[in-house]
Amino acid sequence: MSVATTEHPVLLTPGPLTTSPQTRQAMLRDWGSWDADFNQITTRVRQHLLEIAHAAQTHECVPLQGSGTFSVEAAIGTIVPRNGHVLVPMNGAYCQRIARICEYLGRRVSTHSYAEDQAISPADIDRLLSADASITHVAVVHCETSTGILNPLQEIAKVVHKHGKSLIIDAMSSFGAVEVDARATPFDALIAASGKCIEGVPGMGFVLVRRSVLESCKGNAHSLVLDLHDQWVYMQKTTQWRFTPPTHVVAALDQALQQHRAEGGLAARGARYASNCRQLIDGLAALGLKSFLPREIQAPIIVTIHAPCHANYNFQAFYNAVKRQGFILYPGKLTTVETFRVGCMGHFGGEGMRAAIAAIAHVLDEMEISVAA
Ligand SMILES: *Cc1c(COP(=O)(O)O)cnc(C)c1O
Repeated sequence: MSVATTEHPVLLTPGPLTTSPQTRQAMLRDWGSWDADFNQITTRVRQHLLEIAHAAQTHECVPLQGSGTFSVEAAIGTIVPRNGHVLVPMNGAYCQRIARICEYLGRRVSTHSYAEDQAISPADIDRLLSADASITHVAVVHCETSTGILNPLQEIAKVVHKHGKSLIIDAMSSFGAVEVDARATPFDALIAASGKCIEGVPGMGFVLVRRSVLESCKGNAHSLVLDLHDQWVYMQKTTQWRFTPPTHVVAALDQALQQHRAEGGLAARGARYASNCRQLIDGLAALGLKSFLPREIQAPIIVTIHAPCHANYNFQAFYNAVKRQGFILYPGKLTTVETFRVGCMGHFGGEGMRAAIAAIAHVLDEMEISVAA
């Protein structure tokens, strides 16, 4: 596991995140986009991603160039017909982004808002779907990265399925570490990206789409580059990407996926992150720093921490000092309270987390911020 140095800092961030040396080394050669060897890598990666969700029998994996949001926008644009109606339950910035995408694309959208420290309630979804039969799709964020809330996906999926509606999941910051089993959690589309819990580098996303749904999506998309149906048809026919693939990103993702499997797959990845998360919350609590969420809804991915209530604290100075110790923190994203965030995801474990907590303790001391009770 990675150890911090000032040349190779440990990123305590939700992507880009800390990758392994092998993953970075996989980028040290060039690939031709027409080359059969490269296209075999693409095929292997797509298959492997389906297997992580137990979706190989029912779904297709369509990769797409760009950051994760490109794939979210592509999924909404391709899967929701132009006269569709999307329900977006909202408890953070990434849900808001989905609603915004719907507005941009001219898809009808209804939202239902929660406080930022509240999980989405499946009973509310049930009630909202009963009240408005015109809703065709529900789009949910699995782990709301803006706070670290884990939404109750399986229960939500059951409700959506019961109503015969289509579920689109933004599993960007959970895929590969928190179980989503397509056989038990029915979904039409699940979106994630290379540079999150699989621990690849950023640059591509992918959407697992139910095959029968994808086959019916021709002509929905408003955009050529974001048309997942067209991307899929071309890839099935040629094994190639439609437009220039992010070759080095794909090669790194292939390597990262092999390490994911060698570590013990999703269960082992999830256990390592959960252990990082416990250690982080306990370690910071011992320094007098409190986490924002109750433990029951905290995902083992990223933790929001209340900023120390002290005159000497300001995030930028704190960030810079922690960076000098070899660790990169993440700013808070809440509007009402001052917070910062620390990621539990990336190529580090107990030793890395211990060092990170020691670095934060050192900086608090250096800045003469005493918050311990
Ligand atoms: C990272 C992330 C995204 C995608 O963000 P990009 O900056 O486009 O990569 C979308 N949803 C969630 C929940 C995320 O964590």
